[in-house]
Formats: sequence, structure tokens, C-alpha cells
Amino acid sequence: MMSSSLATVSYIGATILFILSLGGLSHPESSRRGNLYGMIGMTIAVLATVFGPRVTMAGLPWIIGAMLVGGSVGLYAARKVQMTQMPELVALMHSMVGLAACLVGFANYIDPAATFQLVDGKSIPLTDAEKAIHEIEIYVGILIGAVTFSGSIIAFGKLSGKIGGKPLLLPGRHFMNLLGLLVVIGFGWQFLHAETVSAGMIGLTVMTVIALLFGIHMVMAIGGADMPVVVSMLNSYSGWAAAATGFMLNNDLLIVTGALVGSSGAILSYIMCRAMNRNFISVIAGGFGTAGGTVVKASGDGQPAGEVVAISAVDTAELLRDAKNVIIVPGYGMAVAQAQHTVYEITQLLREKGVNVRFGIHPVAGRMPGHMNVLLAEARVPYDIVMEMDELNADFPNTDVAMVIGANDIVNPAAQEDPSSPIAGMPVLEVWKAKTSIVMKRSMASGYAGVDNPLFYKENNRMLFGDAKKMLDEVLVALKA
Ligand code: NDP
Repeated sequence: MMSSSLATVSYIGATILFILSLGGLSHPESSRRGNLYGMIGMTIAVLATVFGPRVTMAGLPWIIGAMLVGGSVGLYAARKVQMTQMPELVALMHSMVGLAACLVGFANYIDPAATFQLVDGKSIPLTDAEKAIHEIEIYVGILIGAVTFSGSIIAFGKLSGKIGGKPLLLPGRHFMNLLGLLVVIGFGWQFLHAETVSAGMIGLTVMTVIALLFGIHMVMAIGGADMPVVVSMLNSYSGWAAAATGFMLNNDLLIVTGALVGSSGAILSYIMCRAMNRNFISVIAGGFGTAGGTVVKASGDGQPAGEVVAISAVDTAELLRDAKNVIIVPGYGMAVAQAQHTVYEITQLLREKGVNVRFGIHPVAGRMPGHMNVLLAEARVPYDIVMEMDELNADFPNTDVAMVIGANDIVNPAAQEDPSSPIAGMPVLEVWKAKTSIVMKRSMASGYAGVDNPLFYKENNRMLFGDAKKMLDEVLVALKA
């Protein structure tokens, strides 16, 4: 077993590795290294905790047994999950962190040993002030944990399509949230002044139920297009839930790690809000993207203008071959079709012919932050031709062909042209400004936000209907011919 000072040193080492990991993850080129730091840090953290001074020999078999069960489930899920199901898996993992915070909170409250502390090897009861602080930690920890748990379960349902994207807007929902908050504060007071554990349990249980309902209500009220903010926000909550667990268990590493996840998730939520031109508070309050999930006419007069013009794979190849500048805009459909490798082959071929090919990445393309970057990196697309929306948007007028692969909401001009659109104000990639835009998708169906797309009807737009992988394979064959 490890001595207490060795465990502390290991914790400091793990913390440094976690910080380096976050730093590495900020750029695609260093992200593999960042992941490696994270994995080493987590291994050190787990070993230092399991073999540290707080675990007795008698407890070890239980912990190892639980780790084997949890590890096997995690390994199985990670091997089986499709890349397109990754956001759902992440949402489910966040819910586990929330659940763990709740369970640790209840266990801690019931455990009589938790009201004692070890000083110089002796067990001393907590003072009244220390006891109050400990109980506040428990109350707040369970509160955050319960919101994270139920909110993440609903997010999982929405991302996997098991629950519709349409926001549930209950009448008087802001009033209900406010009432819930007041009840939680009232029962918190009762909890802190409870004489016995069973009396305190009443407040704790009522608060947990309200927090669970609040988590459900909060995510159910979010419109389809605003889900990215919710996903990153729940990521942040899961960090704070872990930090709260750290306070309850007096574990410094858990506090630091939780705070790192919580604050980086909060920064990500802010970036996502900015990318979508949304106000953070309004997203949480719900009601944006009100028409999400249904097909809404995007143009002002309620009718999309004109007709769509289809194009064949052979003609697409012809247009690409004659182009000097090409911008490829990948979206969720590229992930579904697993078309990234063919995209790379086409890119390589065009670049060999002297065509300037670049990729335009929207911050909320796909179903999780960085989704497209991960896929393109996997297909070995060079990082220097993968650009962010802001870097590229001004270049569309000088672009011969803008090729949209399985993207929809992120290239929807209604965001700029129709103030009544549920995605109004969201910055989009302005592909329609290119000489020709080609949209590759299987049908006229709407994207995640459930909004019709006037891009399809523009004069300079062509539709290449079919599965992205299949159509790109055909384009590749035609290009090689
Ligand atoms: P969209 O969901 O708007 O559109 C994807 C399009 O891909 C669909 O219209 C679909 O059309 C097409 N498609 C599906 N399968 C295939 C296939 N096999 N081959 C070819 N096309 C296919 O995706 P975008 O990437 O444009 O936008 C992302 C959306 O997801 C935004 O609304 C964003 O808010 C939301 N979101 C993003 C998150 C994030 O963190 N990035 C998280 C949660 C939500 P068809 O069926 O006709 O083929």
C-alpha cells in the first residue's frame, strides 16, 4: 500500500498531466499527445486512490471487483459504439457522473464515520461549523448531481432520436422553475437544522426529486438547434458534480479534476453560444428553436422559391476537375455515411491536379464539438487545409465549387434571410455565394433543427442525391477516368 505522501505526490503529478492534456486537446496536431497525457494521468490517479492510505485491505476486493465490472462495460461500449453515436455515449457518461455524485452524497450523509475527521491518526468529531459545511457540500453536490443525471438522460434521448427535438414548453415554466428553486432553498434550511439523519432525509429527498424534475424540464425545453449548447453545458455540470463529490469525500484530486472539466465545459458552452449567436441564459431558460423537429418553411412567404436541380456524380466530377478553388463543407451526413476516407482521396486527386481544396468547419457541424475535425484527422486530411468558418466565409465569392457533404443546418441561408426562422441569427457557411454549390444528401429532408433549407432552391445550387459514401465513390471513379 502507498504512503500518504506518495499518494499526494501522485495526485500532484496527475493534476499536472490533466492540465497538459487539456492544453494538448486545444489543437488537432497536439490532440493525440493530449489524450496520452490524460490517459497516463488517469492511470496514476486511479492507482494512487486504490492503493492509497484511504482504502483498507478489506475494501480492496470490492473496489477491484467494481472496477472490473465498470471497466468491462466501458470497454464493451467504447468498442461497439459507432462514431455517430459518440455524442449519445458522452451524454450517458455525463449522467453517470451525476448519478455517482447523488449516491456518494446520500452514502456520505448516512455514514456516521463521515462526521469524524482524522487528525494525527486520531478520529475527532467535526465541530458544528464543520458539520454545517459538510452538510452544505452534500446538499449542493446532490443538487448538481441530480440535475446532471436527469438532464443528461434526456439529452441522450434527444441525441439518439428516442425523444423528439421539439421543445416542450409548459405554460408558466419560468414560474415553475422559480418555485422549484424556492422549495429547494426552503428544504435546504430544514435539512441543515434537522436533528437526526432520518429528519434530514426528508429535505434531501424532496430536493433530489425537484432537481431531477428540473433537469428533465430544462433539457426538454431546448429546441433542436440549441442542443450543442446543452451538451457542452451538461459536460460542464458533470465536472462540477465531480468537484462536489471531491468536497464530500475530502479528495483534492477529484476537486481539481472536476473544476478543470467544469470550467473548460463552461468555456466551451460560451464558445458554442457565440458560434450560434445565442444568449447563454436564454438557451438555458429554453424556448429557442421553437419550431425544431417539424418542417418549417424557411422563406418569408412560406414557400421555398424555385425548383431544385439534380446533378449526377459524373457531372460533379467534371465541375470539380474544371475548378481552381474548391471548398468542402462536411456535416453530420458525412459521419453517418463514413465518407471521410473517400473525401480525402478526392481531395488528394484534386490537389495533385493543382486545385486549391480547403475544408470549411462550422463550430456545431455534426453532433458534438469537434466532430468533423476528428473524422478528417482520422482520414489524414492535412490540418492546414481545414479552416474554421470565420477564416473562410469571405472566400466563397472567389470559390468555383462549394461541395456540401451531408450538411444542412450549418449552410442554411434562412439563418440570415428569414428573421422568423428558428435558426435566425446563427452564423452559417455562406456556400451559396460560390459560383456553384453542390449539396450531397439522400433526400429533401431537413437537418437536426427541422428547418427547411432555401439553399436547395437557389439557381446556382445542384443536388447530388444519394448516400454520401456511395456518391463520392462514384465521383472518385469519374475523376480517375
Ligand atoms: P444536419 O443535421 O443539419 O444535416 C445533416 C444532413 O445529412 C441531413 O439533412 C441528412 O439529409 C444528411 N444525411 C444523413 N445521412 C446521410 C448519408 N448517409 N449520406 C448523405 N447525407 C446524409 O447536420 P449539420 O452538420 O449541417 O448541422 C448540425 C446540426 O446538429 C445543427 O442543427 C446543430 O445545432 C445540431 N447539433 C450539433 C451538436 C454539436 O455539438 N455539433 C450537438 C447537438 C446538435 P438526408 O436525410 O436527406 O440524407
